[in-house]
Amino acid sequence: MPSNPQNTVVVAIDGPAGAGKSTIAKAVAKHLGFTYLDTGAMYRSLTLKALKQNVNLESEEDLVKLAENTLIDLIVSEDHQLKVLLDNEDVTEEIRTVEVTNNTFFIARTPGVRTIMVDRQREIGGSNNIVAEGRDIGTVVFPAAKKKFYLDANLEERSQRRFKELAEKGKQVEPKDIQTDLQDRDHKDFTRKVGALKIADDAIVIDSTHMSIEDVVSHIIEIVVQNG
Ligand code: C5P
Repeated sequence: MPSNPQNTVVVAIDGPAGAGKSTIAKAVAKHLGFTYLDTGAMYRSLTLKALKQNVNLESEEDLVKLAENTLIDLIVSEDHQLKVLLDNEDVTEEIRTVEVTNNTFFIARTPGVRTIMVDRQREIGGSNNIVAEGRDIGTVVFPAAKKKFYLDANLEERSQRRFKELAEKGKQVEPKDIQTDLQDRDHKDFTRKVGALKIADDAIVIDSTHMSIEDVVSHIIEIVVQNG
């Protein structure tokens, strides 16, 4: 069954944390005039709400109920910045805290929650040409997408990029801690029972370890445009 029966174009970008997916997906979407879909922001938003409401993160029933009663809107402004609204409240910054990052795996590993998220992502992809980034876009959400990429970089490079990103925001973090944190997130992403991170059989793997953002973006655009 095609995942996007409306015949919209889906560019799927999966890969581990810190590989540069957000920056690259945003730039590709801007260039192509497509909608940018940050699926991680959806899992993060629900995590934030669960933490604020003290929902039992171990209870699938409670988390599914929460997901069913939650409105998440991803709005891309004219200057191509992503604004995340959780039940109409702007949580763009709040979903990036360490606390949210460290607790998102509870939400991401819960099958009933993933089903709801995947349905919503398919709705968005069904009515727009999109560049969607996450962990399961090419494998689960849009398995019929014709343009699939798996964006990777080695652990050291991903740690350095994260370190720079945090430093630019004025946050002091030990590089060693960033590396441990990324390793832990990798492990959780690769090993969960549903929606685990894996390379789709028909994905093009891009190792961006020694590539600039501009090079990765133009490489992806070239492939998307070439293959029509
Ligand atoms: O991409 P980002 O780091 O913002 O994603 C936050 C978390 O949400 C990740 O750690 C990942 O486990 C989870 N996620 C997911 N499926 C997606 C996107 C993100 O499980 N499609």
